[in-house]
Amino acid sequence: MSDNDIIGKFREKGLRLTPQRMSVYRALCELRHPTAEEVREQVRRLTPAITVATVYNTLETLVKSGLAEKVFTLDNKMRFDADTRPHHHLYDNRTHSISDLSESGLSDLIRSHIKEMGVLKDFELQEIKIELIGHYRQN
Ligand SMILES: [Zn+2]
Repeated sequence: MSDNDIIGKFREKGLRLTPQRMSVYRALCELRHPTAEEVREQVRRLTPAITVATVYNTLETLVKSGLAEKVFTLDNKMRFDADTRPHHHLYDNRTHSISDLSESGLSDLIRSHIKEMGVLKDFELQEIKIELIGHYRQN
């Protein structure tokens, strides 16, 4: 992602862009679903003086402004995702890695199934996020 892309994204969300926010966001985009620790390690290579607290706070700020989302997984680690478009996750329970699964109509399928079943009438459904758990077969 170019500097201009990042500048545009921050501007779109009305978030002031600082050099620290830039490096944390860049690391988040490069790493794909990293933990805060992984972001910190990546950022430290270029910005050794950055504190752990700054990285955590910056990640929280990115989430609040809609530039990132938190992802909770079975290994009890909070991960972060720079891709805020609707999509689902494949969780590999051997490697604890996450890969993306495109939305491709899955949410609509579930919404119409719920409607057909006549359940959840009192529940205001806002978003559907699916986590498929398993692992890749070894060939
Ligand atoms: Zn994702």
